[in-house]
Amino acid sequence: MYKSILVPIDPSEMERGKAMIDVAQKLAGKDTRIRLLTVVVDIPAFVAAQVPDDIIKTAMSTARETLEGLIGAAGLKADAEVRSGKPGSTILTSADECGADLIIIGSHKPGLQDYFLGSTASRVVRHAQCSVLVIR
Ligand code: ADP
Repeated sequence: MYKSILVPIDPSEMERGKAMIDVAQKLAGKDTRIRLLTVVVDIPAFVAAQVPDDIIKTAMSTARETLEGLIGAAGLKADAEVRSGKPGSTILTSADECGADLIIIGSHKPGLQDYFLGSTASRVVRHAQCSVLVIR
């Protein structure tokens, strides 16, 4: 049984997020911790200088509300975590920090079926210290 499952959810892919949560629920035992994670992608400094200060803050609070909505809708006991940074490396850091023994990740964004794995998913599959389940 897994002790700690990390489910990274792209903010633009909430339908897939529901499917990933469903798999996490099926694999979780009563003592399994589940963490949903959304990474708000950093914008380059030269772009950040041109946009209002609170744009990232707003994106982060919207992402948190969305994750909490998914948790509520699934009747799940889980943590919602929102970070800013690069998705691949931030997912790997979060997995290490929460002692994840399983990461459940989507294969790629919809519409890119020609690729075997998206860039974030392939980075996580290659570098994770734990098992990774890729959802198609
Ligand atoms: P693509 O390269 O086609 O955009 P990705 O590899 O970025 O595909 O996305 C595959 C999966 O990686 C998503 O289904 C999700 O699980 C995870 N992921 C991608 N971006 C993020 C993000 N910003 N926050 C959390 N998870 C993400």
